[in-house]
Amino acid sequence: MTRPTCVALIAHDQKKDDLAAFAKRNEAVLSGMKIVATGTTGGRVLEMCPGLDVTRLKSGPLGGDQQIGALIATGEVDMLIFFVDPLTAMPHDVDVKALMRLATVYDIPMALNQATAEQLIVFQQAL
Ligand code: PGA
Repeated sequence: MTRPTCVALIAHDQKKDDLAAFAKRNEAVLSGMKIVATGTTGGRVLEMCPGLDVTRLKSGPLGGDQQIGALIATGEVDMLIFFVDPLTAMPHDVDVKALMRLATVYDIPMALNQATAEQLIVFQQAL
């Protein structure tokens, strides 16, 4: 039996509302997936969609992004959706770069904005 696709969800700062709304809009597709998320983001997604299978890791600044990186490296995360907030200063820049690097190394689909994330959901729906 194949395991469900695992998607990692992360949203920075002002993008958390957008990601929670994205999850609500795409709840039907996400309900067929396993979700891992950084702490605060995962909490926001669960508030919006309590039925989803969300594992909350540490908050990003406390290592949650790195935990997601480790799960990419071990093959447990199949897709990354990371709503980066480009209108803030760049305190999270190293986290973004580290995950972009691992998603590239392990060749998993990666969305850094909402438009690309919606496309990934369309592809996932078609599987
Ligand atoms: P958070 O972490 O979901 O816990 O806020 C995201 C981040 O800032 O990387």
